[in-house]
Amino acid sequence: MIEKNVRINARKLMAEHGLYPKKNLGQNFLIDAHVLDKIVTAAGLASNDFVIEVGPGLGVLTAELAQAANKVCTIEIDTQLADILCDTVPSNVEIINRDILKTDLGEIIAQSGFSSAKMVANLPYYITTPIIFAVLENNLPVDTMVVMVQKEVADRMLASPSSKAYGLLTLSIAYYGKASLVANVPPNCFFPRPDVHSAVVKIEVSNQVRNNIKRETFFAITKAAFANRRKTLQNCLASSVELNLTKDTAAELIAAAGLPESVRGEALAFEDFVRLANKMSIKN
Ligand code: SAM
Repeated sequence: MIEKNVRINARKLMAEHGLYPKKNLGQNFLIDAHVLDKIVTAAGLASNDFVIEVGPGLGVLTAELAQAANKVCTIEIDTQLADILCDTVPSNVEIINRDILKTDLGEIIAQSGFSSAKMVANLPYYITTPIIFAVLENNLPVDTMVVMVQKEVADRMLASPSSKAYGLLTLSIAYYGKASLVANVPPNCFFPRPDVHSAVVKIEVSNQVRNNIKRETFFAITKAAFANRRKTLQNCLASSVELNLTKDTAAELIAAAGLPESVRGEALAFEDFVRLANKMSIKN
């Protein structure tokens, strides 16, 4: 276990192996042990847990995860890093040298012998949302995700109604689970320093909404509601080809959901969208 106030010398580790960080692979290594500790604590790992990590890099987070969980499967695209990791990680870590976007995580979990997994990762920022939604949209048995993302993405995930950051990403994440902020992380916690601020977000995945509302209905409504932020919800819903509603039926739907006639989509809470989708399903 790394002491909390220690700075991890990623520059030295890289130099020892004759490597340089690859910007195109989003290689900004975490060097702040305090943040590392917050990530592992937020994941709430138990000794019978199976963890999937994307992009282990130099394996600093991997080592902590391996200590707290039963097994870690980690997917790294960079062959040089994967080779180094194979020689250094504990025996309960499996390294897969592959592109995460070409990896069947469902199969990995199915073959692991565990019934579910947790995803814990300092994600490569250029593919943050594809990775998160590959897990959520495919209904993989992943119950918790603790991920480092760009702060701007975290803000959109966690935004409140009527704020600038509130929109499709906020509602899409809410459809699949409950997101919360673990920590804000400044650039000096990484080597090399990224140009952007970062944040660690925890998503507790849940089937509660998914089991009751059809995905297509929920997303058709939310997409329509945010298609034009300045229009009223009624006009947005009536303009959607996918929903195929008249202005009158859109107004009826809004009233049935207990919402004001002239409300705008951006003012609606997640629960309001759920109610709208429910009323829409009943009508269909
Ligand atoms: N986990 C390390 C840490 O916290 O210091 C490294 C995190 S770094 C932000 C992102 C890592 O993801 C790098 O190791 C990078 O090589 C890897 N990576 C980038 N693209 C990837 C992809 N498509 N599939 C798998 N790994 C990828």
